[in-house]
Amino acid sequence: MQNILNFTREKLAGWLEDNGIKSFRAGQIFKWLYLQQVNDFESMSNLSKDLRKTLAAHFSIPRLTVEKRQISEDATQKSLYQLDDGQQIESVLIPEKDHYTLCVSSQAGCAQNCQFCLTARGGLARNLTVAEIVSQVRDARYDLMAQGIEPLQLSNIVFMGMGEPLANYNNLVDALSIITDTDYGLKFSTRRVTVSTCGLVPKITQLGLETEVNLAVSLNATTDDLRTALMPINKKYPLNLLLETCRTFTMKPRKKITFEYILMKGVNDSEEDALRLVKLLSPIKAKVNLIPFNAHPESQFKCPSKEAVNAFLTCLLDHNMTAITRKSKGADILAACGQLRTKNGVPEARVPVKNS
Ligand code: SF4
Repeated sequence: MQNILNFTREKLAGWLEDNGIKSFRAGQIFKWLYLQQVNDFESMSNLSKDLRKTLAAHFSIPRLTVEKRQISEDATQKSLYQLDDGQQIESVLIPEKDHYTLCVSSQAGCAQNCQFCLTARGGLARNLTVAEIVSQVRDARYDLMAQGIEPLQLSNIVFMGMGEPLANYNNLVDALSIITDTDYGLKFSTRRVTVSTCGLVPKITQLGLETEVNLAVSLNATTDDLRTALMPINKKYPLNLLLETCRTFTMKPRKKITFEYILMKGVNDSEEDALRLVKLLSPIKAKVNLIPFNAHPESQFKCPSKEAVNAFLTCLLDHNMTAITRKSKGADILAACGQLRTKNGVPEARVPVKNS
C-alpha cells in the first residue's frame, strides 16, 4: 500500500494511465485530497465505485501523528510529529496580522552543522518523503478547518524548519509542485513560498531554473573565516561563489533574494560587519532580514542589545539596502529560528567571540 500523498499530479496521472484509467482523474483525486481534505477514497463521490475500490486497494491517505503540540505566549503553535519509523519532526504555525505562515521541515535532523542551530546537534537522520513534507501543510490546513478557521488563511510557507531543503532536492521539488498547484493542489502562490538554504550552490541554481518560489539564504557572516566557523558548508562553497550564484539566480524581475543574518553578540554585529554586508550584497537584488539570536541556555551565543541591532539596521538602511529586523516568534517554546530539534542533542563547537 502506497501513501498517495507521495505522488505529484503528473505521477498520479501516469499511474492511472498505466492501470487503464483516464489520466484527468488525477485532478479530481487531487481536489479531494488537498481542497476537500478527505481521509478516504469512499468520500470521492464523483469517481466511479470501481475506481474508488481500485484506489483503496493500492493507496492510503494517512495524516501525520501528532506527538505533542505547544502554543506560545504569542499564539505561535509548534507541532511535534512522530513519523512511521520513529523519527520526529517539527513544524511551526505562525499567526500574522491577516494570515498564517507555516514553517516546514524538509529533513529529520540536519547534516549541515551550523553552530548556532539546535537542529544540527543530533545530525541527520534522513530525508523526508514528499508525503511527509506535503502532510505538514495539508494537516495544518485541516487543523485550522477543525477550529472553524478558513484553511486558505494559511497562505505562506517557509522552508526554515528542520533540515536543509536543498539537500533533499528531488522530494522538495515534488512537494513544491503539489503545494503550488493552484488548480488542484494546495493552491499556494509561488510568491508566498520561500525556500531557505545555508548555501548549497549547485542546487540554488537548479532551484531558480526549475521553480518560481522565493529564495532565502542564511548568510550570518561577512568573511569566509567567520562563516566557515559558523557554517561549515562555507568551506565547500565560499562567500564569493555563493554570492555570485545569487547574483545570477533566475527569478522574476521584481523579486529579491532574502538574506537572513542572525545577529550574535560580539560575533557578527559590529559596524564593520554591517559595512561589509552592504558591500557584499550591493551587486545583488537583495533584502536583508536581521534576526537577533534567540538565546537559550545550551548555546554560547548571545542576543545583541537592542541598540546594537538598531545600529546595524540603521547602517544598512543608510546605505540604501532593503532591510528589516525580524522578531522571532515562539521563543518561549523553542519554536523560533534555529531552535527546532527533537532529541539526541550534542554540544556545539566553540566559535571565537569578540568583546563588544
Ligand atoms: S541552520 Fe538550517 S542548514 Fe544549518 S544546521 Fe540548522 S537546519 Fe541545518
